[in-house]
Amino acid sequence: MRKKIVAGNWKMNTTPAQGLKLANEVNDMAASAPTDVELIIAPPLTHIPLITQALAKSRVKVSAQNCAAWEKGAYTGEVSAEMISSTGATHVIVGHSERREYFSENNEMLLNKIKIAMQNGLTPIFCCGEKLNERDSNQYFNVIEKQISEVLFKLDTKEMGNIIIAYEPIWAIGTGKTASPEQAQEIHAFIRQIVSKKFGDELAKSTSILYGGSCKPDNAKEIFAKADVDGGLIGGAALKAEDFIAIAKSFPK
Ligand code: PEP
Repeated sequence: MRKKIVAGNWKMNTTPAQGLKLANEVNDMAASAPTDVELIIAPPLTHIPLITQALAKSRVKVSAQNCAAWEKGAYTGEVSAEMISSTGATHVIVGHSERREYFSENNEMLLNKIKIAMQNGLTPIFCCGEKLNERDSNQYFNVIEKQISEVLFKLDTKEMGNIIIAYEPIWAIGTGKTASPEQAQEIHAFIRQIVSKKFGDELAKSTSILYGGSCKPDNAKEIFAKADVDGGLIGGAALKAEDFIAIAKSFPK
């Protein structure tokens, strides 16, 4: 009913040559992953044309990690959704917590990015998640609802049907601290419930919601076993093809 997805966010790692090698390794090993799992890698922008060319016939799709919030023009250093799409990339990560924190990306910008990405044929992977103090003070439901309602609830139903959501608790990203399967399920079910309230049950049931935050081969099975977890957005472990593919093999049979 909804897609199982494992997406790898390489962040600012690898040279183009190293990235191409990693992409080829992922591609070679992809044959051993279940065919109903969509595999996506998100290399740095400089590597993307090289990698989309190498993987032109592959089942592994290529995503950007970010795109500009404007269509074109005087935005020095930015790369537009149209440019990304023209490389053969199919997805773009929007609203990663590192972009929200280090580049001051706000919900208004994220909505622009999503709209422009979709106008250019890219599928957005929209990230949301709470900080440690927001979890400890039990504000996490409100925080996530606000992130989702200020961006995704501004889309129409057709647009929303094209969104992948990634729940990434910030306290679990790159820290080695994973959300427990129960913590992940609680939020994934909550996200599905608010999406259902806004857009209807059918759309909510067909929206893939990925977990991200120190997801590794040794914990992915437990997390992916939860009913509302449809896969993972993987950081560190996506830099090793074996680990990335092992995670893709972690769905219940
Ligand atoms: C991420 O940054 O999207 C992420 C999930 O990172 P890590 O797996 O390294 O925690």
